[in-house]
Amino acid sequence: MKLKDVFVEEMQKVKEHSHTLNEELEEHKKNSLILAEKLEQSQAQAQALVDPLTNVLNRSAYNLKMVQLTHEFKRYNEEWALLVLDIDHFKKFNDDFGHKLGDKVLKSVAGTVSDSIRASDQIFRYGGEEFVGILGRINAKTATQLAEKICRQVEKDYFVDGDKKLQATISIVGAIITKDDTEMSLFERADKAMYRAKNNGRNQVVMDL
Ligand code: GH3
Ligand code: MG
Ligand code: MG
Repeated sequence: MKLKDVFVEEMQKVKEHSHTLNEELEEHKKNSLILAEKLEQSQAQAQALVDPLTNVLNRSAYNLKMVQLTHEFKRYNEEWALLVLDIDHFKKFNDDFGHKLGDKVLKSVAGTVSDSIRASDQIFRYGGEEFVGILGRINAKTATQLAEKICRQVEKDYFVDGDKKLQATISIVGAIITKDDTEMSLFERADKAMYRAKNNGRNQVVMDL
């Protein structure tokens, strides 16, 4: 073979190789676009389950979790507790000191609860000034102690308004799941105790036991 022919053949190979590389590059680009789109979709899905003010999970997340947990309880029989936490006289707090400071209280309560529970437990903003905590593998005594601890910590936190130091309190109620419970009945049992907590002077824990 002549030198020129060898050269032409080599050039042809290089050309083909670079064509393949270009094709691969295009394929990679396409794949990374698809991945970026998928990532965006899953971020949007995750975002749909978070309350934007307090950054804790929202009511939709709570509904999903409860269906899963009540179903699992029937299979695995693991004891867990539901706490309902409601800020006391929050309407008056907003009226007296403004919505902006009210929002700070909401964020602070969410933070206090998140810091008090185990990493595997979850807190949700159920709506307005109400939160729900799901505590896994816990008995009534420990759940009550934890609720007491949260109550006392919220009472200690304060909010500055000019030269005033303001405090907020919460009432906490709770129930332990039983085999007859549905997602609704467990919440209702706990929530019924809320009337007792509020009527007995608020800033306290009442468990439905
Ligand atoms: P109680 O001690 O009986 O629970 O009384 P309450 O005033 O806390 O209860 P009520 O249900 O009458 O009022 C709840 C208030 O929560 C009214 C509403 O303005 C306030 N609220 C709900 N969502 C938000 C929010 O996102 N930000 C602020 N600042 N306030 C909120
Ligand atoms: Mg309420
Ligand atoms: Mg309230």
